[in-house]
Amino acid sequence: MSADLEQHPADTPFHRRLVYGTRPDGAWMTHGPAGAYESVVMRPLEPMLVPEKPRRGELDPENCGACAVDEHTIWHDDLWQVQAGWEPGGLPFIGAISPREHWLLEDAPVEVLAALGPLMQRISEAVKRIPGVARCHFSRFNDGSAHLHLWAFARPAGMMQGRGAVLSYWDGMLPEMTVSMMTEFLDIVAEALAEGGGTAYPILRSREGGAN
Ligand SMILES: [Zn+2]
Repeated sequence: MSADLEQHPADTPFHRRLVYGTRPDGAWMTHGPAGAYESVVMRPLEPMLVPEKPRRGELDPENCGACAVDEHTIWHDDLWQVQAGWEPGGLPFIGAISPREHWLLEDAPVEVLAALGPLMQRISEAVKRIPGVARCHFSRFNDGSAHLHLWAFARPAGMMQGRGAVLSYWDGMLPEMTVSMMTEFLDIVAEALAEGGGTAYPILRSREGGAN
């Protein structure tokens, strides 16, 4: 059993302050730097669920799914891969960054972790090559899949309402890109990453009989 499954009881000094079934005041969401919401109605706070539901790949790493190279792998090297392009969204780019082997943050070898810092710098620079992108955001949740992964989000230039954690939600609300625009932007990121090593589109390359 992984360390993540060694659950703490939902009965701690922190938890005992919470009032389940009451509706938090969503007005807090209308303040702050994002400026994205005029009003927010929150659902009542649900009781804590312990033990938590296992994440994908937690009980059976064989069925993880995140370990495999697939047609959405736009780049990889020996240790890491970037997957993107599942369907067009409203943001110029969203990518998932994960080790090629099944590691959790808790047990990943130091050589895998040490390669992540330079890779984040390369991904940020690659994403900013997309015309109209000001910044590359990164986030790590690991609540859906156990396999260590981070997300990269492209923030459009000038989009002050997309600053901070709210950016990912805009992907579902801005007009969807066309498939051709999405593909063009994926190519920009993949080719920029491959300039620093590794392989762009390894699955497509292998189908074409190319290297790697
Ligand atoms: Zn995995």
